[in-house]
Amino acid sequence: MKVIVVGSGPSGMIAAIRLALNNEVVLVDSNNSLGKKLLLSGNGKCNYWNRNIVPSKYITDDGFILSSILTRDNIDNTFKFLDSLGLYPTIKGDLYYPYSENSHSVLSILKRKLESSNVEIKYNFKVIDIKKENGVFTIVSSDNETITSDAVIIASGGSSMKKTGSDGSIMNILKSMGHEVIPFIPSLNRITLGCNFKSIENIRSRASIKVLVNNEELFEDSGEVLFKSDGISGIVSFNASAYVSYYLNKGNNIDIAINYLNNIDNVDEFLKNRSEQLNNPSIESLLESLIDYRLMFYLLDYISLNKDKLYNSLTEEEKNNLISVLTNNKYRALEVGDLDSSQVSIGGLKLTNINPNNFESNIVSNLYIIGEALDVAGICGGYNIAFAFISGFIVGCHLC
Ligand SMILES: Cc1cc2nc3c(=O)[nH]c(=O)nc-3n(C[C@H](O)[C@H](O)[C@H](O)COP(=O)(O)OP(=O)(O)OC[C@H]3O[C@@H](n4cnc5c(N)ncnc54)[C@H](O)[C@@H]3O)c2cc1C
Repeated sequence: MKVIVVGSGPSGMIAAIRLALNNEVVLVDSNNSLGKKLLLSGNGKCNYWNRNIVPSKYITDDGFILSSILTRDNIDNTFKFLDSLGLYPTIKGDLYYPYSENSHSVLSILKRKLESSNVEIKYNFKVIDIKKENGVFTIVSSDNETITSDAVIIASGGSSMKKTGSDGSIMNILKSMGHEVIPFIPSLNRITLGCNFKSIENIRSRASIKVLVNNEELFEDSGEVLFKSDGISGIVSFNASAYVSYYLNKGNNIDIAINYLNNIDNVDEFLKNRSEQLNNPSIESLLESLIDYRLMFYLLDYISLNKDKLYNSLTEEEKNNLISVLTNNKYRALEVGDLDSSQVSIGGLKLTNINPNNFESNIVSNLYIIGEALDVAGICGGYNIAFAFISGFIVGCHLC
C-alpha cells in the first residue's frame, strides 16, 4: 500500500522507517530539512527517552486512553526498535541521551535509515488540504502539488516554536473532517508570577516548587530555580508550567509555593539548633551559607525583617514569618510564556477520536494521527520524544 507521512519529526520519521518494511512511503515536510525540532531538543543533546515512561508524566484530557497506549509492550518494543537502528544511549538518572550527547547523531541515524529504506522524501511541501474520495487520499501542497495514497499519517507536531515548522495549521483540516481538536496552549516555559523579582533577577537557587490549584497541592518538583524579574524559569518551573498552563486555561486560581530549604526536614528545629550553635546570631548570620545573599535580603525585605536583628529577639510571629517565607513563599501564577517560546504545546487532536491500538482516526478510515499532534504533552525528561517514537512505531507496525 502507498502511505504518505506528513511531518519529519521523530514520530513521522520512525513511522516511515517501520512502514517502509512493507509499504511504499512518501514523507513530506514543509521545511527544507528533516527533524528541525529534534535537533534543538535537550539543548542540542536530545533527551529522547526516559526509564520511567508513565501516564502521570503527561498532560491530556483523556488519561485513561493514554494509559492504554503506554503499555509495557509498546514501550519496550519501541525501545528495542530504536536500539536495532543503532541508537546507543548514555543514561543520566532516568534520562536517555545519545552516547555522543549530540542530537545530530539521532537525526543522522534516522535519516540514513530512511534513505536505505527507500522512503521518498519531499521537502518544502506544506500540506494545506487533505481529501478522500473513493478510498483514495489526495494531499495538496501550498504550491498546489498533489500526491495520492491509500493511507495518510499526520505527524505534524504541536504548535510550539513555529519556526521549526510545527505550526498546528493541519488541525483546521482535521477539524473540517469532523475531528475534535483541543486548542493549543503553551507548556514547558517560564511562569509569570504576581511578584517583583527585579532585585533577584538571574539568581539560581535550589528549591522545591509546589503548584496549588484552588489551594490544593497538585504537583511538586525540586531542583534549580532561575529567578526572572517577573517570575521563574529553569527545568523545575518548566515542569510546573505544564500544570499552571493547563489549569489556568480551565479558569482555576493557581499559586506557586517555593521552599528554599526543601532538603531540611524540620526547619523550625533546625534554625533553633543553629542559633544555639552560633550563639544567638543575627538573622543574616543565621541564614548565611543557606541561601544566596541577594535572595536572603529580598526575602527579609518581603517580610519586613531587619537582617541585623538577633534571632533570639524575634517575636513568635516574626519567627513564623521567617519560616514561612523560607519554606512556603507563595505567589499567584499569572501566565506561562507564549507558544512560540515554549518547548511543547498542550492540546491537539482529542484521544477519543483515535483507536488507541493503532492511532487510526475513528472518523476517517486509513487516516492516522501520532506524536505531539495528539492531545498528549509530557513534562521535561525525554517523555515527549519518547511518545513521538512510541506512537510512530505502533502505527508503523500496524500498517505492515
Ligand atoms: C527547544 C526544545 C527542546 C526540546 N527538548 C526536548 C527533549 O530534550 N526531550 C523531549 O522529549 N522533548 C523535547 N522537546 C519536545 C520535542 O522536541 C517534541 O515534542 C517532538 O519533536 C514532537 O515530535 P513530533 O514528531 O510529534 O513533531 P515535530 O518534531 O514537531 O515535527 C513535526 C514536523 O511536521 C512538519 N509539519 C507541520 N505541519 C506541516 C504541514 N502542514 N505540512 C508539512 N509538514 C508539516 C514540521 O515542519 C515538522 O518538521 C523540545 C522541544 C523544543 C522546542
